[in-house]
Amino acid sequence: MKFSREYTVDFISGKVKDEQEKFNTSKYFKEKYYGDKVIIRGLLEISNYCKNECLYCGINSKNHKITRYRMTPEEIVQSATIAYKNGYRSFVIQGGDDPFFSDKVLLQMIHSLKTNFDDIAITLSLGERSYDSYKKLFHEGVDRYLLRHESVNKKLYSLLHPNQSLENRIQCLYNLKEIGYQVGTGFMVGLPSQSYEDIYNDLAFISDLEPEMVGIGPFIPHRDTILKDCTRGNTDELLRILVLIRNLLPKALIPATTALGTASNENQLMALKYSANVVMPNITPANYKKKYQLYNNKKSKTVEELIRKGITISKEKGDHYDFRKKLYR
Ligand code: SAM
Repeated sequence: MKFSREYTVDFISGKVKDEQEKFNTSKYFKEKYYGDKVIIRGLLEISNYCKNECLYCGINSKNHKITRYRMTPEEIVQSATIAYKNGYRSFVIQGGDDPFFSDKVLLQMIHSLKTNFDDIAITLSLGERSYDSYKKLFHEGVDRYLLRHESVNKKLYSLLHPNQSLENRIQCLYNLKEIGYQVGTGFMVGLPSQSYEDIYNDLAFISDLEPEMVGIGPFIPHRDTILKDCTRGNTDELLRILVLIRNLLPKALIPATTALGTASNENQLMALKYSANVVMPNITPANYKKKYQLYNNKKSKTVEELIRKGITISKEKGDHYDFRKKLYR
C-alpha cells in the first residue's frame, strides 16, 4: 500500500492541508487513461430475491415487507435489446443471490445476448458462485464481474453478513481474477462501527488485489432493516476515498455510484470531475425498478441528466485500459 496508515486516516478525515494536490493527481490519471469521457453502463436489476441476510440491505431474505420479483431471461434479453438500440454497449446484470439463476439459466441467457450482439460487454453482479460456475460463464462470454468485498474486518463482516464468510468472498475475487475476468470490488462507507482504520485496511486489500473496477458508495439506511436508525455514510469522506483509490490504481474503472448520487448530487458530480469515470444509468423496466430498493429513495441519473450537467458520455464497451488491446480470451 502506497500510503501509510496515518496519512490515509488523516486524508479521509479531511486533516491533510494540501489535499488538493492529491485531487489533482487523481484527475490527471483519470484523464490520462480515459480522457474526459464518462463511460455509461446500463444497469439491469434482474431479481430482488436473495438468500442472504445482509443487515444493511433492503432486499435481504428476512425482509418480508417487500414484493419480490424476478425477470425472466426473455425479459432480460428484451430490455438489453431496447438499450442496445439506444446505443448502449455495456450492460451490468445485477441481482440478489437468487438460486433461480442457475448456471444453465445464465448460460442460455448470456449465449442469446452474445449471439444477438457481438460488440457488447457483459458484467455480472450476482454474488458468490463456485469456481466452476464463474469459469463456465466466462467462457460463454461474460467479460466482467462485480463483487464488493464489503469489509476486510472479520468481526464487522460476520456481524453484517450472517451465514456468509469473508474467506469465501475473498476467494471468489481471486478466482475471478485467475479465470481472466475484469474484476470489480469495493465497499460501503459509513457502515455502523466502521472505523477509519477499517477503511485503511479495505484500501490496502484493494491495492493488493489490483481489481479493474472499484465501486464505493455511502451506506444508506433502509427503513425495513435492523440498521434503519443508523446514520448514512459521509460523502465528503467518500470523495476523498475515491481520490485515494485513483492514486493507488490510476487505470481503474471507478463508478460514481447511484448511492453516492442519491446521498449527494453535488458530490457525485465532484467525483466525476476528480476520480470517477463510470456511471450506471438504470435500464430496468419501471415496474421492477421500484422494487429493487437496497436503500430508500434511490436516485439514478439518466443519460439526459448527465448530458445536461455538462458531462461528456460514452456508451462504448468501456474496457479497462489494460484490456483494450489485450487478446484475453
Ligand atoms: N448479490 C450481489 C452481491 O452480493 O454482490 C449483488 C447485489 S448487492 C445488493 C449490491 C451491493 O449493494 C452490495 O455489494 C452493497 O455494497 C450495496 N448495498 C446494499 N445495501 C446497501 C445500502 N443500504 N446502502 C448502500 N449500498 C448498499
